[in-house]
Amino acid sequence: MSRKCRDCGGSMASYIEDHQYVECGLSYVVLHAIKKFRCERCGSETLQIPQQAQLHRSIADAIVSSPSRLGGPEIKFLRSHLGWSNQQFARMMGVSEEAASRWASGTATMGGPSERLLKMLAAIGPIDQEFEDFEDQKSAHLGMLQHAITRVFAMLAADELDNLTTKSLHMKLNRDWAPQLAAA
Ligand SMILES: [Zn+2]
Repeated sequence: MSRKCRDCGGSMASYIEDHQYVECGLSYVVLHAIKKFRCERCGSETLQIPQQAQLHRSIADAIVSSPSRLGGPEIKFLRSHLGWSNQQFARMMGVSEEAASRWASGTATMGGPSERLLKMLAAIGPIDQEFEDFEDQKSAHLGMLQHAITRVFAMLAADELDNLTTKSLHMKLNRDWAPQLAAA
C-alpha cells in the first residue's frame, strides 16, 4: 500500500536506512536499519520506530552504564525518560530549580555524587505512579523493580559509577534495540 505525503500529497517511497536519532536530543545515537518513508516530490520524511518505550529504555541503560560524564543532553534525556518536569527533577535531586535547569542546559556541570544519584534513579525508573489492580501485573512490576535495584547494587559494588571520563559517547542500536557503545 502506498503512502501519501502529508505536506504535498505526493507519493512516499520506503527505504531501510540508518537514522541519526536527533529527535531524542542526543546527536550521537544512530538507529540501524530503520524504515523511512520519503516523499518523492518534496523530500519530506517520516520514520517508523517500533517499540519506542523499549528503545528509550535501552538508550537510558546505555547512558547509565557508560563511563562518560553526563552532559546537558544526557541529563535532559534521563529527566524526560523518568517522566519528570524540571521542578520534579530539582526536588528529586535536592537542588533549586535554577540549579537543575543549569545542569540540563549544560551551563553547569553536575558533580560526582549528583551524577551517581541520577544514574541510580535512571537505572531503577521510570516507576509507574500507580500499580495496576491486577495481581499479575503487580508482580511483574515488582519483579522489574527488584531486578533494577539488584542491578544498582551490582553497579555500586563493581565501581561502575566511578572513574568517570570526559569522553563522549557514541551509540548505535540495532533492530532489537541492543546498543553498541563507543567512546570518542
Ligand atoms: Zn511531499
